Formats: sequence, C-alpha cells, structure tokens
Amino acid sequence: MSPAGRFAPSPSADLHIGNLRTAVLAWLFARSTGRQFLVRVEDLDDRARDDVARRQLDDLAAIGLTWDAPPEYQSAHGARYDAVVDELTGRGMTFQCHCSRRDILQAPRAPHAPEGAYPGTCRDLTDAERAERAATGRPPAVRLRSDVTQFTVTDLLHGSYTGVVDDFVLRRGDGVPAYNLAVVVDDAAQGVDQVVRGDDLLSSSPRQAYLGALLGHPTPTYAHVPLVLNDDGKRLAKRDGAVTRAELGTQHTLSLIAGSLGYTASTVGEMLAEFDPAALPRDPWVYAPG
Ligand code: GLU
Repeated sequence: MSPAGRFAPSPSADLHIGNLRTAVLAWLFARSTGRQFLVRVEDLDDRARDDVARRQLDDLAAIGLTWDAPPEYQSAHGARYDAVVDELTGRGMTFQCHCSRRDILQAPRAPHAPEGAYPGTCRDLTDAERAERAATGRPPAVRLRSDVTQFTVTDLLHGSYTGVVDDFVLRRGDGVPAYNLAVVVDDAAQGVDQVVRGDDLLSSSPRQAYLGALLGHPTPTYAHVPLVLNDDGKRLAKRDGAVTRAELGTQHTLSLIAGSLGYTASTVGEMLAEFDPAALPRDPWVYAPG
C-alpha cells in the first residue's frame, strides 16, 4: 500500500472556505511529499447526508484537488470497526458503559482530570453492579480500558504535544462506531501515514495515536493546521455569510485560500510549487465574509 495523506470530511454541512483551505493544505502536504491523496467520507453519524457528501466531493474536485482512489464511505465499513472492537474485547481492553453524558459530568473527578474526561464509573464494576446497570435498559457504550492517562504525539506545526487519554468510547450505545475508533481503523486500512486536519482535533490525536499503537499501527505524521475564524474570533460557520464555493465562486475561493497562505498562485498546482510547510502561517486566518 502506498503511503497516503487524506481529507476526511463529515457530510453534515457543506464545506466552507475554512474546510476547503484545510483540504488544500492536506493535499499540498501529501503531494509535496510524494504521497497519494485520499478522500474519506465520514458518514457514520446520523447527521450525515448523501447530497451533502456529493456536493463536498464536487467542491474538492472543482478547486482542483485530485485523489488516487475512489472515496471511501465509513458507512460501508461497519464490519471493519466491529472486528476491532471484538479484538480489543478479546484482549480484555474494553468495558461496557451505561453512563449518560450527564452521569459523566456529575461524577466526582480525579484531581486535574479535565472536564468531560471519563471518570471511570463503569470500569471496575462487580458482576452484580454490572447486572444492575444493565437492567436500566439503556444499551451500553463500549469504552477502551486505557492503561495510560496521557500520550504524546509529534506534530509538524505544534511540535511535541501531550494530551489526555481516558477510557474513551469505541462504540456508542446506539451501535455507531465512535469517531476516534473509525478514524484510526480507516487511516491504517487505507495506508494513511500523514494526517493533516484542523487544529480543533489536535487534542484528539493522543487518544488516536495510543489506540493505533495498541492495534500495532505505525503512528502517522500529524500536522494540525490553524482554523479559520470569523471577525468575532469564533470558528467560521455557514451562518457568517458567503462562505461556500457555491456562494463565492471557484476562482474567488481559490484566490482567498492562496492569499491566506501568502501565495500569489491561482491554482492548487501553482500553490504546490510555492508550498513550504515551515513557512505556513501558525495563527488562525480571520475571514470576514461579505
Ligand atoms: N471528519 C472529521 C471532521 O470533519 C475530521 C476527521 C479527521 O480528519 O481526522 O471534522
């Protein structure tokens, strides 16, 4: 399998200029290092829509991105994720969890544990306690029985980054594989060894790298790129105005992206000629849609 980079959008809303900029950067990182480039549609969630996925792929193609294999759809790979949950369960590395989000937020936390980190409620229940919780009727989520509390990754833009690894969810109570599981399983299955994405996901990368290591996968190279903010300093969103390619036009979209990276290029091919990862802007790009 050839080494690859990828872009992995969730088709719950049309891509905005910030998402497209991240996609361009993922493509530039992959192509400038001789890697293949893949697109994966992360459509496990019930907010995923087929028409949005089609428009996302059209937008990526329209701005000139090319990929080396047909896009993969996570919804087609349920067996792949279940097999990994079964493997980890066979190794004694999972447990069933009956907690609601509210239970987790209200449970006493270990000192220094970050808000929302799993407090361990269902990790070491006796058989009787487990039976009692199972009787509540809520189908259990499956969590990883993690044997670390933190893990360190190396990021091309952020350097060494250490973040929390808790007993995170592998499969939700409704049976849907969790993002952290699916992304690790798919990156390995597709030969992805370079992960370029928005820096809102930097804090998820220690969990993912740890899970990948447990499964025997090589750790990918990470580059978490700055997000695009609106002029209130908040993450850019569709409600901010004209932010999609359909609204901005293809050429204007490309020139905005190129300008935000300090390039004079008007195509992604020309951006590739100018691409220097060391010179990438490290601060968020502030974009005020008209
Ligand atoms: N599907 C995720 C998103 O759209 C990105 C996943 C990833 O790049 O790891 O936010």
